[in-house]
Amino acid sequence: MKVLIIGGGASGLVAAISAACSGFDVTILEKNDKCGKKILLTGNGRCNYFNDDFRIDKFNSQNLEILKKIINAENKQKILTFFDELGIVPKKQNGYYYPFSNQAITIRESLVTEAKLKGVKIKTNITVDDITYQDKFHVKTKEEELVADIVVLATGSKACPKTGSDGLGYILATNFNHHIVNVLPALVQLKSNLPFMSKWDKIRSDVEVKLYEDNQLVKEEVGEIQFTNYGVSGICIFQLSSMAIKGLQNNKKEEIVINFMPWLKDSLITYLDNKIKKMHKRKISDLLDGMLNYKIVNLILQKNHINQDCLYNNLSFNQKQQLALDLQSFKVPITGFNGFDKAQVCSGGVCLSEINISTMESLKQKNLYIIGELLDVDGLCGGYNLSFAWLSALLAGEDIRRKNDKIKTN
Ligand SMILES: Cc1cc2nc3c(=O)[nH]c(=O)nc-3n(C[C@H](O)[C@H](O)[C@H](O)COP(=O)(O)OP(=O)(O)OC[C@H]3O[C@@H](n4cnc5c(N)ncnc54)[C@H](O)[C@@H]3O)c2cc1C
Repeated sequence: MKVLIIGGGASGLVAAISAACSGFDVTILEKNDKCGKKILLTGNGRCNYFNDDFRIDKFNSQNLEILKKIINAENKQKILTFFDELGIVPKKQNGYYYPFSNQAITIRESLVTEAKLKGVKIKTNITVDDITYQDKFHVKTKEEELVADIVVLATGSKACPKTGSDGLGYILATNFNHHIVNVLPALVQLKSNLPFMSKWDKIRSDVEVKLYEDNQLVKEEVGEIQFTNYGVSGICIFQLSSMAIKGLQNNKKEEIVINFMPWLKDSLITYLDNKIKKMHKRKISDLLDGMLNYKIVNLILQKNHINQDCLYNNLSFNQKQQLALDLQSFKVPITGFNGFDKAQVCSGGVCLSEINISTMESLKQKNLYIIGELLDVDGLCGGYNLSFAWLSALLAGEDIRRKNDKIKTN
């Protein structure tokens, strides 16, 4: 039996290792000159490859009920055992797993070495253009046509196409009548039309952000926000992005409300009134500078036409109220988002209802497996996307091994 794995990224490498244990003839076809180019970029070069909080609410899919069946303690252990047996010593930080080396290359090299040791053939600089089925799979590349009994589609999504995942996998899947849930960028920066965005460029602040959809609160996050000259970025924004983007696509009004003082539980006016009693005569800017980035202070004072030198005690109650509103509930209308080239992952993909979720085998075509980000599954930042890539690959590999056992017993 010949197994062809299309794509040598995170999921393709693991599927190859797992399937090769069967004794089948396994080959990876990878379009880049090396496998796992995207792995090197993950976790800012450190590869956040897993998260202890492996739970269904960390994932998005049109078919979460189906996905739920495999996000469980048994499969969590399966992933951890795989990496343990691969020799990866984890460095755990608040439940986030990185290789102890702090280098993503450790993960890439360990996977490639293990694949080679298991007898996997790796053919690089080969792009699969088309796949058809007639008795067997016919896999077409520019150079040749290969024939296989089992095909694993592991081509990734459209996110970060410079790493090789350019969306061709969706076309390959539709050849077998698979439906594709609308593919959109996710874990990506959001754009705003606020007039003074350019003045915020590169400012960072620890905040609490709330996402409102048609004026209803839908999600909230805490973390570092980064302002850009066109909008907002940072992990807390990435976590909200998938929802905001889907809302924009459905013509919903999306708005982010920022609390620059998440540590303050009281009203800001009461807090400042009490503070000023002990601090004597203070300018408003001096008072606020001790609490947050001075550039944010300057901008919010400018927005409210308050002179930086104005003494706090000379502010009117209305001015204080407006300041408090901007510092604790600053509204940023979301009008757009960055594209696939800037996105870490995509939402949408091959519809999960057309896959046997326990084995990742297509329900449309026997012996065709679809794994990784090509499927309609996206996770939050924190190691969840790689977790799904590994898990889907391990489940497919297991099923391929079962097929070999069946052949042997027959
Ligand atoms: C900057 C960045 C940082 C990230 N950080 C993290 C993180 O820290 N933790 C986390 O969990 N996730 C992270 N992710 C997401 C994670 O990398 C992906 O979800 C994961 O790599 C998906 O694995 P995959 O195997 O499905 O696809 P990929 O890893 O994209 O692999 C697909 C492979 O298929 C090849 N290919 C595509 N089409 C063809 C074809 N027609 N013929 C032959 N080969 C083909 C591609 O060249 C590529 O090598 C990050 C992503 C990015 C872009």
